[in-house]
Amino acid sequence: AIEVEEDSPKDLEPRAPIVTVMGHVDHGKTSLLDYIRKENVIAGESGGITQHIGAYSVTLENGQKITFLDTPGHEAFTAMRARGAQVTDIAIIVVAADDDIMPQTKEAISHAQAAGVPIVFAINKIDRPTANPDKIKEGLANMNLLVEDWGGKIQSHDISAKTGEGVKDLLEKVLLEAELLELKANPNKLANGTVVEAFLDKGRGYVSTVLVQEGTLCIGDYILAGTHSGKVKAMHDERGKNVKKAGPATPISVLGLDGAPQAGDKFNVLEDEREAKQIAAKRAQLLREQSVRTQRH
Ligand code: GDP
Repeated sequence: AIEVEEDSPKDLEPRAPIVTVMGHVDHGKTSLLDYIRKENVIAGESGGITQHIGAYSVTLENGQKITFLDTPGHEAFTAMRARGAQVTDIAIIVVAADDDIMPQTKEAISHAQAAGVPIVFAINKIDRPTANPDKIKEGLANMNLLVEDWGGKIQSHDISAKTGEGVKDLLEKVLLEAELLELKANPNKLANGTVVEAFLDKGRGYVSTVLVQEGTLCIGDYILAGTHSGKVKAMHDERGKNVKKAGPATPISVLGLDGAPQAGDKFNVLEDEREAKQIAAKRAQLLREQSVRTQRH
């Protein structure tokens, strides 16, 4: 019942890449995301990123944007993929240079490869005296992953998420990778995208962070997300600012849904509020029937 209009090539406009950070526990995912969030504050933007909404966008000095899914760990990525949501364009895989290529590093590599998502390696913690980035690159080469320094095509950069060394260059490499993908979307239609996170806030009701992937989400739109629906009452960005419109590759926190959809649920904007409600109700009913059936078996 949900029809998403086909785009003709002339409707498509360049959009920012959407990046996920993965890697073994303690190798520095959170530190990297925090560093970028705090330090990469932006020419012309007033105020830093103050809200944790599960995703954020940064604008680099050259004016180019990158959107980060701010949910480190594989859970978000795998949960979303399990629900059929492919939101990530590029994966940064963080590997601590004072450690080895660990099980979750390998897992992250497999996830990215299975999803067909290009990898940029961030060889982290190079400020540590025991750091040995070459050992990591050799380890990658042994897995048939040749990084540029080793004559291969895979981008990698040595960084310290603590001091910030190399982070800017890492992001430049992410943008180079993004250029090859020629990412585009049509901003001029009803929005659709994916739910990043959602929760019940005591004062504000249900708050959902969504990533707009196509079209533009506007205040007053009727939204359908998983088994929930509602009219968009307000939107806030990662700086806590009120926003009236959110285009492709924009993460935005939305008020107005009648419940909390799950991370990875698709959302769509419908012309008709009643239809959105009906589809949400029908989906909820199907889910209930399914769970009754599984309980019987
Ligand atoms: P995560 O589990 O991958 O999110 O790892 P964290 O970002 O939580 O980092 C794990 C630990 O390593 C923390 O104590 C960080 O302070 C530390 N750490 C992360 N990056 C660096 C770095 O570049 N240099 C140093 N010296 N420590 C780091």
